[in-house]
Amino acid sequence: MTELLKVENLVKHFPIKGGLFGRTVDKVHAVDGVSFTLDAGETLGVVGESGCGKSTTGRCILRLIEPTSGQVSFEGKDVTAMDKTALRTMARDMQIIFQDPYASLNPRMTVGAIIGEALTIHKLAATPQIYEDRIVELLETVGLAADHMRRFPHEFSGGQRQRIGIARALAVSPKLVVCDEAVSALDVSIQAQVINLLEDLQSQLNLTYLFIAHDLSVVEHISDRVAVMYLGRIVEIAPARDLYTRPYHPYTEALLSAVPIPDPLVKRKRIRLQGDVPSPIRPPPGCHFHTRCPIAQKGLCDQQSPVLEQAGNGHWVACHLRG
Ligand code: SF4
Repeated sequence: MTELLKVENLVKHFPIKGGLFGRTVDKVHAVDGVSFTLDAGETLGVVGESGCGKSTTGRCILRLIEPTSGQVSFEGKDVTAMDKTALRTMARDMQIIFQDPYASLNPRMTVGAIIGEALTIHKLAATPQIYEDRIVELLETVGLAADHMRRFPHEFSGGQRQRIGIARALAVSPKLVVCDEAVSALDVSIQAQVINLLEDLQSQLNLTYLFIAHDLSVVEHISDRVAVMYLGRIVEIAPARDLYTRPYHPYTEALLSAVPIPDPLVKRKRIRLQGDVPSPIRPPPGCHFHTRCPIAQKGLCDQQSPVLEQAGNGHWVACHLRG
């Protein structure tokens, strides 16, 4: 396997301005030292409750948001150090599909113009005929029809709009696609169709996915590995089968306990976490999860921050008591 993406100690803090002079009075610790690698053709699922930093991580990788510190390398090139020109070229290789297919498509543009915009920006269609042929090809690739190119986004269902978003991302033939909650806004049956489409496209086009979602059931089938995030940090990362059959981290256990099992004879004990996710402005000291962890140890978990340690083959967990 060839390493495509390497993220090292990625940090993103959003300043909070206040006072008379608009000074920085505090900061939101959105991403707090995230590291992982992604091989070409692989899918890494990234899961966690809202506010855990997963979408910010995806956007920092693409430099849609500037990271505070850390390094992102794509095919060995340092993305974090790139100037605007180099970034524009790099944008061909790294694309994003957004969560909301209603908000992410310009309602005043035809579907053809939406998909074709990147072809124009990157000068990928030498003639109007090549431009149109490519749009038709992209529409058909995502299961839409050629005559859809002259219609507007509001004429389509949520699932179809997400297919348009996928066609737009594929227009520049990217290598990595960040799917940022790409199916979260869709009905469960439509979610399955879009996930199947993404899987088919991955094998046809050798795509690599960073697949961000807020629950483990969504990423189960598409992911080769899964990373679980809590308050800006990865708390567990493992091959998907290992994580689903033998989770180590108490937070992963709790998330997994909410995933329905298709066999009605098998019952899973639901673990309900107490309280809400603490504010990322002042995350709890020590293990960020200690305020909700059912097995937290006083004097240890509330004081010392656990680091990711190897608990099995490719299985890493950040917990003082597990692993
Ligand atoms: Fe729970 Fe402590 Fe492990 Fe954190 S380090 S997950 S608080 S047991």
